[in-house]
Formats: sequence, C-alpha cells, structure tokens
Amino acid sequence: EGQRTAATVLRALRAIAELMREREDELGRMDSVAGDGDHGRGMTRGSGAAAEAAEAIAAQGVGPAAVLVAAGDAWASKAGGTSGVLWGALLRSFGDLLPADRAVTAVDLAAGAEAALAAVQRLGRAEPGDKTLVDALRPFTTELRGAVESGGADAWRRAAQAATEAAADTADLLPRTGRARPLAERSVGTPDPGATSLALALTRIGETFEE
Ligand code: ADP
Ligand code: MG
Ligand code: MG
Repeated sequence: EGQRTAATVLRALRAIAELMREREDELGRMDSVAGDGDHGRGMTRGSGAAAEAAEAIAAQGVGPAAVLVAAGDAWASKAGGTSGVLWGALLRSFGDLLPADRAVTAVDLAAGAEAALAAVQRLGRAEPGDKTLVDALRPFTTELRGAVESGGADAWRRAAQAATEAAADTADLLPRTGRARPLAERSVGTPDPGATSLALALTRIGETFEE
C-alpha cells in the first residue's frame, strides 16, 4: 500500500460523488420499497458537498485527516436524512484517527474503520442484524483488520468484497430501526439501501487506491 495523502482522500471523495450520481435513481428506488425514497438524492447531495469541501481545504495544503473532517462536516450538513448524519460521523471519526505527522499506513486505515464503526453505532444505536449500513460497515472493518494483520497488499479490496456480500445478504433481514421499520415486511427481498451504497462507495475507494 502506498502513501495516503490529502490528494488520495480527495480523489476518493470525487469518485464517490460521481458514483452516487450514477446510482442515485437505483438507490432511491431501493429506499422507496420500505423507506421514503430519498436515499439516492441524499447520497448525491452529501457526497457532492463533501467532495467540494475537500477540494477547498486540500487547496490550503492540509493533511488527509483535516480533509476528511471537513468532508464529513459538509456531508452531514448538506445531505439531509439519517444516512447523511451517519456518513458525516463516519468520515470525521475516520479522519480523527489518521496521523498528521507521518504517512498513513494500512494499520491506520484499519483503526480508522474501527473508529468509524464505533461512531456510527454510538450515534445510530443500530445493532448488527437491524438491516442498516452497520451490516456492511462491520464486516468491512473486521475483514480489513484481519487482512492488514496478515499483511495482505489487497486488504481494502478484500474488505470491500466482504461489505458487498454482507450488503446483499441484508435482503433477507427485517429492519429493526430507521424509517423502514413500520413497513419492515415489505423490505424483505430488497437489500438495505444504506448498506448497499456504503458497499458501493468502499469498493470504489479501493479502485482509486489502485489507480
Ligand atoms: P432517511 O431514512 O432519513 O430517509 P436515508 O434514506 O438517506 O435517510 O438513509 C436510509 C439508510 O440509513 C438506511 O437504509 C440505513 O442503512 C441507514 N440507517 C437508518 N437508521 C440507521 C441507524 N440507526 N444506524 C445505522 N444506519 C441507519
Ligand atoms: Mg430515506
Ligand atoms: Mg428521508
């Protein structure tokens, strides 16, 4: 794994914003099965604001941590909705864990993911199996830590693959929290939109690391 700089973070955020624009309609339809249908719109707005904020602050020559914190603030304030607040916390807490005085290592990324998961769970109080984005973030974090400890060069890619499989597996679950809960039965057979968009974003980030 190469050195992670502010430019790496900026490139990843731009890629997420572009991907969410492409997948906006599909994520909206997924959220309309049992939720209120705004997930695609929220992800596009949040990720677009995050990429813009990142661009502005990266131009000032700050490190990757500061870029992520600014991106998280912008995402939470512009996205609207539950997932926007959670994505904001995720990016901020990931950024808080990155070192300011040396190159970011794979071990830092694993610690960042763990901090992000803790922040999301502290804020949203969802448990594994509640059919939320926690069901993709938790396996991602576990796999990333395991892959980093065993020294795998493709740790992020393997972790993103675990998140993708876990997001697909949420189709079988009944939502136990969030807006989809009142219409829980209707959502069986459809994956959780927040878990799906998170897995898409994590996969895309991994691709930008290899570009
Ligand atoms: P809203 O539900 O406010 O309309 P979105 O549609 O943008 O927000 O996001 C919905 C997604 O947010 C869900 O699919 C789920 O993944 C995630 N979510 C909802 N509540 C929680 C929670 N308490 N913890 C974690 N994720 C949650
Ligand atoms: Mg919604
Ligand atoms: Mg909503």
